[in-house]
Amino acid sequence: MWIPKFEPQTITMKKWLFSLFVFSLITETSAQTIIKRDPEIAAMVKEISPDSLKAYITKLVSFGTRSTLSSTTDKKRGVGAAREWVVQHFNDFAKNSNGRMIAYVDTTTIPADGRRVDVATNLGNAMAILKGTDSNDDRIYIISGHLDSRVTDVMNRTADAPGANDDGSGVAAVMECARIMSKRSFPATIIFVAVSGEEQSLLGSTFLANEAKTKNWNIDAMLNNDIMGSNNSNEINIIDNTRLRVFSEGISASDTGRVLSNVRNLGLENDSRSRQLARYVKEIGERYVDNLEVVMVYRSDRFLRGGDHTPFLQKGYAAVRLTEMNENYNHQHQDLRSDKGIVYGDLPEFMDFEYLRKNTGINLASLANLAKSPSMPQDVRVEVRNLTNSTTLNWKAPKNGKTQAYYVLMRETTSPVWQKKIFTTETTITLPYSKDNYFFAVQSINDIGNESLPVVPAAGR
Ligand SMILES: [Zn+2]
Repeated sequence: MWIPKFEPQTITMKKWLFSLFVFSLITETSAQTIIKRDPEIAAMVKEISPDSLKAYITKLVSFGTRSTLSSTTDKKRGVGAAREWVVQHFNDFAKNSNGRMIAYVDTTTIPADGRRVDVATNLGNAMAILKGTDSNDDRIYIISGHLDSRVTDVMNRTADAPGANDDGSGVAAVMECARIMSKRSFPATIIFVAVSGEEQSLLGSTFLANEAKTKNWNIDAMLNNDIMGSNNSNEINIIDNTRLRVFSEGISASDTGRVLSNVRNLGLENDSRSRQLARYVKEIGERYVDNLEVVMVYRSDRFLRGGDHTPFLQKGYAAVRLTEMNENYNHQHQDLRSDKGIVYGDLPEFMDFEYLRKNTGINLASLANLAKSPSMPQDVRVEVRNLTNSTTLNWKAPKNGKTQAYYVLMRETTSPVWQKKIFTTETTITLPYSKDNYFFAVQSINDIGNESLPVVPAAGR
């Protein structure tokens, strides 16, 4: 829990006394806010099984290739058989959901584009939607992995392309979360999806993001899992299963005009909604998963690369990518072969299922905490009527959820993570810290302690 630190900023005795007064209030309230794990989320995280993750990946590999250009009609080999198998599992899980989960293959036809699609192709995302229990709450959270796989030549639709890690790991995480979470209920809706066409230029995720925008889905957050089940480098001898990267963009595609000026003027380039989501995944993930550090990378994806979160970012949704710390390029996008004693190819034997278990836990804990939390507080403002060395924030209750209280978050401008988490049951707070020197945000909390994503205050007069 946070330890209050008195900032020596006082000039007058009056201000000093005021600071001391607020300081004592914070100390008092914060003493009650030792954050505990929510037992339900802890139980779900414990249920994640490395054996089950391994079984999913073994089966995915058995389809030979899952190239988006491979057969969609063959019952045993190709992407069509693979997507039917994923949906069949989703349907099995749905039996325990009291009718709240539905599953289907969401299909479209992608015309030949002269680049990575040479003939019109039937593309299908394997989807499961776990409906929220609160009919007034339209929030949606998405967890994704990509079903398709590839070898060296992205147009090769026949060679064996096991795709155990890229992205069997992401699909297995999505399936395991669906298996465990479908048995529970959440106020908000969760979509579990194995998209297709990633290697062919993010086709399935673009199709889904377009659909989301057309249908006006209120997507609060999207977690894209791609390459996260093996953590060793092919260049240097690193084997480390204690760190997972979360990539997030700083400036959003929707940051244009006055919004972008605001970002520049207030120094908010490190406070985009996706960056807040990355911080959230780090805090909540690490709260529930032991021996794993979530490492934030201030970049939307790896250098010059993209992923299935990219189309969602382009549509203005908050989205991040989760990827292992060290990738092994001998095992990624490679024809299966041996050369000079090196085995190339994305095979299950290179996987670390215990590492994948922990990474799945980061996803599950974040998703569950989000879907259980109230929605975000509304109209969060920082008072700017008078110049002061203190900071007054006020806000309105969220639209949905059983809000019991709020956390006011605070960090120094150079800190990557929130440093103080101040509990309050009010909708206004004055802190003896200057808005010139700190960033602030507010989260809603329910009676169990599940917190919403944070909202950065706008200037209020
Ligand atoms: Zn991938």
